[in-house]
Amino acid sequence: MKRVIEVKNLVKKYSKTTAVDSISFEVFQGEVFGLLGENGAGKSTTLEIIEGLRRPTSGEVKVLGFDAQSQKKQIKKKIGVQLQSSAYYNFLTLKEILNLFCTFYESKTEPMDLLRMVNLEEKANAYVNSLSGGQKQRFSIVASLVNNPEIVFLDEPTTGLDPLARRNLWNLISQIKAEGKTVVLTTHYMEEAEALCDRIAIMEKGKILAMDETHKLIEMSENPFSISFVLGSKIDKDAFSKVVSCGEIENIFGKKNHFILRIKDRACLNKALPLVMKLNPDSIQVGQATLEDLFIDLTGKVIGE
Ligand code: ADP
Repeated sequence: MKRVIEVKNLVKKYSKTTAVDSISFEVFQGEVFGLLGENGAGKSTTLEIIEGLRRPTSGEVKVLGFDAQSQKKQIKKKIGVQLQSSAYYNFLTLKEILNLFCTFYESKTEPMDLLRMVNLEEKANAYVNSLSGGQKQRFSIVASLVNNPEIVFLDEPTTGLDPLARRNLWNLISQIKAEGKTVVLTTHYMEEAEALCDRIAIMEKGKILAMDETHKLIEMSENPFSISFVLGSKIDKDAFSKVVSCGEIENIFGKKNHFILRIKDRACLNKALPLVMKLNPDSIQVGQATLEDLFIDLTGKVIGE
């Protein structure tokens, strides 16, 4: 796989704060790579250094083989950066803004095609201020595509959106990936990272705590599998104690015979399943841990606490 971004021992200090604390990672062509972490983790700073918008204190960053500091010009032609919607001109229409952006580049895309891609063609002559939150976000993403970039950077693309608008944006990001572009995004939404990203780096206090393909990361959590089951009123105690020995059992609060068995690996899952079936459960559901479970294992907290 071709590496399109290479970050080595990157450090960024702002007087007393170390925003990025010696991180290294690579991004491969065609993938959606996510930087996941709570506010202040160092995600935006990392992104802005890669985009050539900020100077690192030390370390090396290459984008498409070019140095992010000394070869910014070459990089800018080939990347798209989503701006916050407040950064657009208030007295230009969507079409005029896209036309203006097109004049900055040699390789360009037809503005109406872009607006169509995000169902905003009817808003071509409207101002950004008149758009809903979701429409503004869609526009800001599509505005980053005017130069048909190889890599698209999205900083917290769905923050503040309602669930439906968020889903629409997820579809748009998947569509961009399907066109063969590489997407690098930051988010503090676990389910967003899980739904969109091929690989994720979990950041906290400027460091990368864990990084891998999304499903492998989830399997890194202490108990990546679970069996949730409901028993009738008569429970075979011997059979139940065998089930308990396969993992960590929890009685769902407020529900008498509803249990969750958390399991540490596939071998234990294979052992536990037939044992639970012997209890003749009224219902049974096998589940997987989520990124949130891993985040709690790694940091001892949930995002937003
Ligand atoms: P995130 O994107 O994960 O929310 P940031 O990269 O924005 O994190 O910030 C990382 C840390 O660096 C935070 O402690 C933040 O307060 C600090 N920081 C960010 N930008 C600046 C700046 N321009 N000057 C001083 N400190 C900054």
